[in-house]
Amino acid sequence: MANAYRSLPSVDKLLADRRLRPLEAAHSRQLVTDAVRQVLEAGRSAIARGEPAPTPDQLVASVVAEVESLAQISLRSVINATGVVLHTNLGRAPLSRETTTAMDSVSGYINLEFDVANGARGSREVHLSSLLCRLTGAEAALVVNNNASAVLLALSALAKRKEVIVSRGQAVEIGGGFRIPDVMRQSGARLVEVGTTNCTYLSDYEEAITDRTAALLRVHSSNFKVVGFTQEVGVDQLVQLGARHDLPVLDDLGSGCLLDTSRFGLAPEPTVQDSIAAGVALAFFSGDKLLGGPQAGIVVGQRYLIEKLRKHPLARAVRIDKTRIAGLAATLLHYLKGQAEQRIPVWQMISLHPDEVESRAREWAAQFKGLATVTKGESVVGGGSLPGGTLPTWLLTIKGTGKAGQRIAVQELAARLRAGQPPVVGRLEGNSLLLDPRTVRPEDDRVFIEALRQALDSLGVRPDA
Ligand SMILES: *Cc1c(COP(=O)(O)O)cnc(C)c1O
Repeated sequence: MANAYRSLPSVDKLLADRRLRPLEAAHSRQLVTDAVRQVLEAGRSAIARGEPAPTPDQLVASVVAEVESLAQISLRSVINATGVVLHTNLGRAPLSRETTTAMDSVSGYINLEFDVANGARGSREVHLSSLLCRLTGAEAALVVNNNASAVLLALSALAKRKEVIVSRGQAVEIGGGFRIPDVMRQSGARLVEVGTTNCTYLSDYEEAITDRTAALLRVHSSNFKVVGFTQEVGVDQLVQLGARHDLPVLDDLGSGCLLDTSRFGLAPEPTVQDSIAAGVALAFFSGDKLLGGPQAGIVVGQRYLIEKLRKHPLARAVRIDKTRIAGLAATLLHYLKGQAEQRIPVWQMISLHPDEVESRAREWAAQFKGLATVTKGESVVGGGSLPGGTLPTWLLTIKGTGKAGQRIAVQELAARLRAGQPPVVGRLEGNSLLLDPRTVRPEDDRVFIEALRQALDSLGVRPDA
């Protein structure tokens, strides 16, 4: 083993390798030196584990790979073949072309807070508020970093050291550690839970109102469904109760849909317009869920309350940046022009007819004769919207057993697909790998097919001719 250690070159010797010279020119000597040290350290660890010492060629290859991975951003495009339209781990809503163009176009100096006509200071809010008011019917709007921060800001600005009444069935965890009770505590508001997990009545709210009450809060149960014997108070009734006691109703809608989801065979998701029309004081929703835009937290509602939020110190801490303001404006314009289904990827995918999905699945399958079949399945909207909301779909299905007794290790196939360039993410179910065309952009079909071919090939599996 001592011999094995001695076979490793010194840092200087490895650095002097001719094959590393282009790296130094393209990056920096420091970066290459760090990589050399790291690779030699890994070599010593390998020897300590009883593995053979890496050869000079292997060392050079490792240094090249290390520098190249360090000198690259680690975010990359992924082909989402999971069939989950809003996949939080895959970046939620994919953006429309117009949205990315708009985000790109404001990367330099822009009139973010500058009134070009008068040469005076302007406000970053003007770029979105009139669009949002027009689309939702609200008096005023404010956009911040994300919906969790919007709710935190509102509770801090309106209910600190006071009480907020919420149905026990709505004191929920949305995922990623976002729990309504925790957010309330963080804001300094006291949560008063009323009713029971499955049933809350108007009288429960009414009896809990005291002179310390600052607001009534409604939270959309965006990622679960309570079925069976249930009772929640409708937003209209809540608004009437609030009006009788001069209390604002705050409505955390979660996804914040602007379109009628029942048109697509989905359960009706509450729309922002309906909430505003029902008279809630403020409604909160995300930019990157069903709205289909960049990450943002949108608050719409009564002007005097929006002003309170805007003036609160937290507003500055959770403000949104110029690129997302531009992107959100471009996404909202699709709605204004009545082109949401045509232009916004989330809605393109949701509105895709099963027949179209089937014909793409069959085109895919034709490339993988004897290895893949087309089966009926379900796509999921996901991302904290439409709990249980699924859409009928067609899947390219690769079973654990392929042609003529040839076995495909589907777990390994899924891993090879994820390791590909670009990575492809599918869904493993039982002993099958399922790939859903609904969430794969048609322009990616060729790349997808090539990635699958290579992954199968690397396992020694080839389709029938
Ligand atoms: C998703 C969700 C949030 C959090 O929104 P982010 O934009 O992810 O911060 C808050 N409330 C509800 C009801 C949600 O569904």
